[in-house]
Amino acid sequence: MNRKNFLKLTGKSLLLAGVPAFGFNGLAFNARRNMSHQNTGASLTYKVHKLLLKHTWTISRNSTDFKNNVFVKIKRDGIEGLGEAAPNIRYDETPESTVATIESAIPLFNKYDLWHFVDLGYAIKALGTGQTAAKAALDIAIMDWIAKKQNMPLYQYLGLNKEKVPLTTFSIGIDTPEVIRQKVKEAEPYPILKIKVGLGNDHEIIGAVRSVTDKPLRVDANEGWKNKEEALEKIKWLEKEGVEFIEQPMPAAMHDDIRWLRERVEIPIVADEAVKTAADIPRLADAYDGINIKLMKSAGLQEALRMIAMARSLGLKIMLGCMIESSLAIAAAAQISPLVDWLDLDGNLLISNDPMKGHPVVDGKIILNDKPGLGVISEIEF
Ligand code: MG
Repeated sequence: MNRKNFLKLTGKSLLLAGVPAFGFNGLAFNARRNMSHQNTGASLTYKVHKLLLKHTWTISRNSTDFKNNVFVKIKRDGIEGLGEAAPNIRYDETPESTVATIESAIPLFNKYDLWHFVDLGYAIKALGTGQTAAKAALDIAIMDWIAKKQNMPLYQYLGLNKEKVPLTTFSIGIDTPEVIRQKVKEAEPYPILKIKVGLGNDHEIIGAVRSVTDKPLRVDANEGWKNKEEALEKIKWLEKEGVEFIEQPMPAAMHDDIRWLRERVEIPIVADEAVKTAADIPRLADAYDGINIKLMKSAGLQEALRMIAMARSLGLKIMLGCMIESSLAIAAAAQISPLVDWLDLDGNLLISNDPMKGHPVVDGKIILNDKPGLGVISEIEF
């Protein structure tokens, strides 16, 4: 499982070989590609690592006990930039497709210097359609390297004030009332909870939550309500249950129904599955009050910053969320979190074998350390 497989290929031979056979058995493998050379001197290593969930994670779409995320390391001048991809099947991503996309990006590291990270970032983003988790891993690693090379935390490099990091929610996945109550008790240190609904047992879930806490709630239906009348009835009920906003109540494609809904409810409606990159945002402004940015959807930090600027220009609220991720990708998002209104960076708190040591959460607030780059130490070798 941890067998190291070092392949030393030039960008040219990789191009000739296409995506090479690397003995992928569906679970774990790692490989290094040396992108040497006359141009950039950088090398890239990646590794698939299985993240185990503390509780079976259930949302309206699916249920899982583990996630295979792909970790990336870019090394140059003795400095390592780390990145992470959390492939999501909702967006046609698997660990296999993620690795293939990372492999396809390797020639770009021979073409562009890391210091030209804007051009390099656009070139990575333009590699085929989708596969944004893989692209995010590369962008996160590049930005970690850039800030480490400057010997400063990334938030400082970007001119941000770490005191302005908002409180993060803690997410409660769909479960039986008994387990929901237990999860809410485990979430005691977190002042705001995010509750997953959308499977038909919504009243049971909110009832279980409210039987043990009166904390503010945010609710995410993950496209689970399929008609607008049902969604309206549910949101009207949630408004009375102390819910601050509702995330993606209906399928992303049902834009006109969501606009209809928005005219009839009081709490903000936030787009998640309906928005991936900055280009998606303008058409959402008439149906949603805010957007949920995730690095895995945006293809990384640089596009997330463009999304923040776009959303602000349209008067939209901004939430910064995550997938099931280790403390590495969470730390990347946390670095830009002083720019947003709402934070939902808890993916690392839901796993039991986090291989990355990042920033502590104290009473719901991520305390950014002052280490260079993302401020994360890897506990896995790759
Ligand atoms: Mg969501």
